Amino acid sequence: MDQSKIEALRAAPLEPFGHLIDGKSVAASDGAVMEVVSPIDGQVLTTVAKGTAEDMNRAIASARAAFEDGRWSGMPPAARKAVMHRWADLIEQHALELAVLGVRDNGTEIGMALKAEPGSAAATIRYYAEALDKVYGEIAPTSGDVLGLVHKEPVGVVGAIIPWNFPMMIGAWKLGPALAMGNSVVLKPAETASLSLMRMCALALEAGLPSGVLNAVTGEGAVVGEALGLSMDVDVLVFTGSGGTGRRLLRYAAQSNLKRVYLELGGKSPNIVFADAPNLDEAAKVAAGGIFRNAGQVCVAGSRLLVERAIHDEFVAAVARAAEAMRVGDPLDVSTQIGAVNSETQMAQNLRFVETATAEGGEIVTGGGRILQETGGTYMAPTVVSGVTPEATLFQNEVFGPVLAVTAFEGDDDAIRLANATDFGLAGGVWTSNLSRAHRMIRAVRTGVMHVNTYGGADGTVPLGGVGQSGNGADKSLHAIEKYIDLKTAWIKL
Ligand code: ADP
Repeated sequence: MDQSKIEALRAAPLEPFGHLIDGKSVAASDGAVMEVVSPIDGQVLTTVAKGTAEDMNRAIASARAAFEDGRWSGMPPAARKAVMHRWADLIEQHALELAVLGVRDNGTEIGMALKAEPGSAAATIRYYAEALDKVYGEIAPTSGDVLGLVHKEPVGVVGAIIPWNFPMMIGAWKLGPALAMGNSVVLKPAETASLSLMRMCALALEAGLPSGVLNAVTGEGAVVGEALGLSMDVDVLVFTGSGGTGRRLLRYAAQSNLKRVYLELGGKSPNIVFADAPNLDEAAKVAAGGIFRNAGQVCVAGSRLLVERAIHDEFVAAVARAAEAMRVGDPLDVSTQIGAVNSETQMAQNLRFVETATAEGGEIVTGGGRILQETGGTYMAPTVVSGVTPEATLFQNEVFGPVLAVTAFEGDDDAIRLANATDFGLAGGVWTSNLSRAHRMIRAVRTGVMHVNTYGGADGTVPLGGVGQSGNGADKSLHAIEKYIDLKTAWIKL
């Protein structure tokens, strides 16, 4: 990474951003805009269109028209594949520009952003481009006088509501398989991280995606997100975000056309460290990275550290040392390891969690507060709280910030009991040299992703989805495709 190139991009003034509807950048129907505040320094970067329900309905109508006339779904698979590959090429060519734009908007440290945002978005688009002509229908094993065919058809119009922590990566997890299967998509970026995603959508058109196949509407969740959720003309809704919004989306579906709703919600993922871990120093560093990168704003973050009592004090001290050694600050500085908290709202929420944790008996081992306030940005010291009991607010609730809850355990059964003692089930980890114990823990912990002797970094070949109140339906891998197709049976008498 070249700091001088980053500085040139940081200094570039930004034009106001409009919606992307029917291939054109357009203003809100009433002309309203929202200011985009950078968490780096609290300064206004630009504006985005503040969408109305009318804007959203126009976008949905455009997507529907594009789907119905087959301008994309009817295109030969090889041609669709070529468009998606060109799109991935463009994302790669513009990688640094997209990453810096995204960081100015959401505050993720640039090293992480470059890899996880344009890097993984391009890889995801390519993965589904390659997959799109390898999804076959089926011939059923019927008796000889009939023929049972199972067609796999696009669902039609997909609504995708995206969060602010990794907008391009998570956007691509939805857009890749949805578009590969021939659907049209209406995207709703998060209020506090629209810019890079809007730019990435514009690149899709440049790559040859026909107008109307991908529309994107910015604005408030409660306005444009709600209009998307309540639409009678959206067939599938895919979402990554909070449980509260997830519940709303299910209600919208019930109040409208019973659209299928797939939710990737939060987690409170247990990272379980046994005394027989192969390398405790390494485990401590990875555990710190597993919660503190991107200022803890990662859905699979290992936010609960469960440590075997025999090594508890020594291990927690090592995690605290690792946390203190991580450089917090300007996310566009290439040496920064922890960037900004996304917004003032999020910062206030993080600090409230720390306050409640200490009131409920937790002990702050390191961090605990806001730092670098003189920058005007939103920065928080990586925070480790020990002695967190299963009843505590910090044990049971997702912070989505750089706050680690530590709890001691005694033996396998206790570790499993604590690991499963929340309503969530998104990710988890176990550190042990004992192969049988590792496999027993993989089976016993109720979660969508289980790491062994590492934390994070699972690539696009494996699914990511939660159980319990962490959601349903997986992103990534070939399994994600199932969300974007309908099965249709043809039963033919011969
Ligand atoms: P967070 O609390 O982490 O910001 P949210 O679930 O509120 O998470 O946000 C995730 C996405 O959901 C954002 O794009 C946001 O605009 C959208 N959203 C928020 N509220 C609603 C709503 N009532 N209907 C539809 N989408 C919403």
